[in-house]
Amino acid sequence: MSAFERNASPWMHGPEYAVVAEAMRIGQWGHNTATEAFEAELAAFLGVPDVVAVSSCTAALHIGLLLAGVGPGNEVIVPSQTFCATVQAILMAGAHPRFIDIDADTLCVDSAAVQAAITPSTGAVIPVLYGGRAIDLTEIKPELDRRGIAVVEDAAHAFGSRLGDKRVGATGMLTCFSFGPIKNLTCGEGGALIPRSPAEADAARTLRLLGVTQSQAARIRTTSYQVDGVGWRYHLSAVHAAIGRVQLARFADIETVRRRLWRAYARELSGLEYVALVDLDIEHTVPFNCVVRVVDERDKVFETLRDRGIGVGVHYPPNHTQPAFRQWYRPLPVTETTARQTISLPFHPAMTEHDITHVVSELRTALADLRRNSVQSARR
Ligand SMILES: *Cc1c(COP(=O)(O)O)cnc(C)c1O
Repeated sequence: MSAFERNASPWMHGPEYAVVAEAMRIGQWGHNTATEAFEAELAAFLGVPDVVAVSSCTAALHIGLLLAGVGPGNEVIVPSQTFCATVQAILMAGAHPRFIDIDADTLCVDSAAVQAAITPSTGAVIPVLYGGRAIDLTEIKPELDRRGIAVVEDAAHAFGSRLGDKRVGATGMLTCFSFGPIKNLTCGEGGALIPRSPAEADAARTLRLLGVTQSQAARIRTTSYQVDGVGWRYHLSAVHAAIGRVQLARFADIETVRRRLWRAYARELSGLEYVALVDLDIEHTVPFNCVVRVVDERDKVFETLRDRGIGVGVHYPPNHTQPAFRQWYRPLPVTETTARQTISLPFHPAMTEHDITHVVSELRTALADLRRNSVQSARR
C-alpha cells in the first residue's frame, strides 16, 4: 500500500515494538511506574508542573469538565466542527452542548463567538484546536474568570504546537491531549490532562482510578484503600505509556517532518483555483492534518480522488445535525458551509514530498475534469 492511500497513520518503526515486548516480558501492564515516568517527561517537555496521563482524550475531557465544576443544568460552549468525542464528553459530565460557529479560514472559534454564547448556565468553554492551531482567548479570559467559567481545551490535534513562545498546555488552561493512533504523538491509545493546580492534579488522579485516593505505590504496601467518590477506569496502561515515551524522545523529528510535509502541500496547492488550504499558522503549529476547502462539488472531488486511490477523508461531519445532538441544534452558517467543502488530504509522516506532488496533481486533474464537464453541460 502506498503512503498516499492512507489518510493518516501512526509513525512507529522499531523502538516502539521493542518496548512493548519488554513491558510484556517484565509483566508491566496497568498503571505503574512507566506511566509516572511518562507523566514526568511530558511535564518537562511542555514546561508545566504536572501532567495526568489517562486512557484517551475523551477521558481527559470528561475529567476536565468535572474539575471545572460542570454538571447537570450547565451548558458547555463548543464548536460543532469537532470529533463527536468532544460532545460526548459534555454529555458524560451530565451537561449539554451550546454549539457555536467557527472562522471559515481556520475552522476554529474565536473570542467574539465565545463571548456571544455566554449565558447564566454556561459551565465551561471547550475550544477545539483544529488541525493543531492554538486558540488565543486572552481577550475574554478576564470575563470568563469573573464568571467562574473554565476553559477546557480540546488539544487532541495540537500536541507540540505553541501559543506565542509557550507550548499548548502551558498557558494556564485545563488542556486535554489525545495520544490515539493518528495523533501527533501516539501511545496506540492514550491521552493526558494538564491540571491547573496540585489540588486539581490530585482530584484528577482520584477520578481516573475509580475514586481511590491512595497512590498505586502506597496501595501495594497497605491492607486497605480509600474510595472517596465516583471514579472511572481511565488510567493509562504501562504498555501504552512505554510507546508514548519512545515517541516523545523523538518528537523533534516528528515535529520537523509534519511541518515539512504540510509546507510541501502549501507550495503545491498555491495558485490552485477553487481550493483553499485551511490556515494553521504553521510557524507555531505541529500540523495534525492538511485540510482544503473545495468551493463546490466537494463530494464529486472526494469520490474522484478516492477512486484514484488517494486516501482522502472528511474531518468531521458537524455535530449539531447529528441525531444524538440535534435537540441542541442552532443555525451555524459558517459551519454548515465549510462542512460541505472540506477534504482532508492524506497526511502522515511516512509520506514523502513525491507522494504530495502526486496527490495534488490528482486533485488538479479532478478539478479540471469537473470544470470541463460543467462547462459542457452548460452549453448543452
Ligand atoms: C481524536 C480526537 C478526540 C478524542 O481523542 P481520543 O483519545 O480518541 O479519545 C477528541 N477531539 C478531537 C478533536 C479529536 O481529534
